Amino acid sequence: MSSYDVIVIGSGPGGYVAAIRCAQLGLKTACVEGRETLGGTCLNVGCIPSKALLHATHMLHEAEHNFEEMGLKAKAPTVDWKQMLTYKDKTIETNTKGIEFLFKKNKIDWLKGWGSVPEAGKVKVGDEVHEAKNIIIASGSEPAGLPGVEVDEKTVVTSTGALELGKIPKKMVVIGAGVIGLELGSVYARLGTEITVVEYLDAITPGMDPEVQKTFQRMLKKQGLNFVMGAAVQKTEVAKGKAKVSYKLRKDDSEHEIEADTVLVATGRKPVIKGMGLDDLGIKMTERGQIAVNEHWETSVKGVYAIGDVIEGPMLAHKAEDEGMAAAEVISGKHGHVNYGVIPGVIYTHPEVASVGETEATLKDAGREYKVGKFSFMGNARAKAVFAGDGFVKLIADKETDRILGCHIIGPGAGDLIHEVCVAMEFGASAQDLAMTCHAHPTYSEAVREAALACGDGPIHM
Ligand code: FAD
Repeated sequence: MSSYDVIVIGSGPGGYVAAIRCAQLGLKTACVEGRETLGGTCLNVGCIPSKALLHATHMLHEAEHNFEEMGLKAKAPTVDWKQMLTYKDKTIETNTKGIEFLFKKNKIDWLKGWGSVPEAGKVKVGDEVHEAKNIIIASGSEPAGLPGVEVDEKTVVTSTGALELGKIPKKMVVIGAGVIGLELGSVYARLGTEITVVEYLDAITPGMDPEVQKTFQRMLKKQGLNFVMGAAVQKTEVAKGKAKVSYKLRKDDSEHEIEADTVLVATGRKPVIKGMGLDDLGIKMTERGQIAVNEHWETSVKGVYAIGDVIEGPMLAHKAEDEGMAAAEVISGKHGHVNYGVIPGVIYTHPEVASVGETEATLKDAGREYKVGKFSFMGNARAKAVFAGDGFVKLIADKETDRILGCHIIGPGAGDLIHEVCVAMEFGASAQDLAMTCHAHPTYSEAVREAALACGDGPIHM
């Protein structure tokens, strides 16, 4: 038996970051991970592999659609799917090994196996019980199922199966028009798969700015994705390696079927809590089955903390990381802090979509007066030069004080551009502060400044 100041359960972006911060703050730390490799969902079957495939297929798209226009006359590349998967696996490996290196560097013990908490202050891994003054649960999430849909990870797959299909399917049905479904749908659409996205709601990417939703759906349609909206999937059936998806249209209850080689179920994720003995420990849960925590990320059991996808809030790697750092700081007697009002959300399609803070809808609901500064990438020289003029930046500021309340971007580099607004929001900046900041030319970020100008006297290039 070993004794630690902190044992973290789970080595995803929440867990590994918490472990590193604990160690940096002088706490004797171990991290339990049941997977073969560190890094959790994000590095193994989430953010990183999906971005590798998005990158590779975006290169293909550029070659097929834009090279000729730029005077690049080589034949468009053919796809070696096996090699593309190898590239994706190597990307995973360098990243997961990187965490192993960081654990060694920070003298964090990796306790290999599945952990449980038999009592406060104790963590069991295999047959061994370790003592821990503090425990951080960072067990993450897993794909949520859908009644009537049986996943076999071959024909009917979750995102995990979709990242390693044996071959590129001819036809794919994606159930759910959320971030994961649209990113992976884009990957396969670029590889020539006929994609049909079946979504229960009437708009894609729930919660996003409606103008962004509409523009994004239009762009995805142009890229070949088909959409069936307002459709409730009833069941999937698999025979001889082919799938049939049955759905009902909500507007008239009419019943329909689509056939596909592969069905991707991307209807959300649920917290991983099984097997850790949390019930017996008396840990309180939320109504939605997440671990309930207070403002210091402590559960109802003293000395047991929880962070990341297993607690409330957006299921995002950077939200988990921030909570990991904050919980470590609280444990070491410092003041951990996460500003939940400034957590960006990014969709890594082409173009990218990014948002932070309030939307017009949330402000209307709150009865708050606001103004909108909007700027199209058609007025941005750099974007036009790289065939990326479609899209816009929409900055929302308080009508009276001009303080920035939110930003929604669809366009080139949106996932990076959003951070300028995040920093501005953290500092309580006004739209005018952004508008008065010199932005290098020609950059996409000029569009953010122009949107800020549009909140005041007006943009220059529109
Ligand atoms: P996880 O990353 O889920 O890690 C939890 C770890 O705990 C796992 O490795 C698990 O094996 C381990 N574990 C669980 N129980 C135990 C136990 N009892 N004992 C030992 N180990 C245990 N987010 C973004 O911000 N950007 C993206 O681009 C993005 N892309 C995504 C793409 C896909 C396809 C998917 C599925 C997700 C994506 N996400 C993305 C979401 C992101 O992966 C998660 O929000 C993030 O991984 C959550 O981190 P976490 O530390 O809470 O948990």
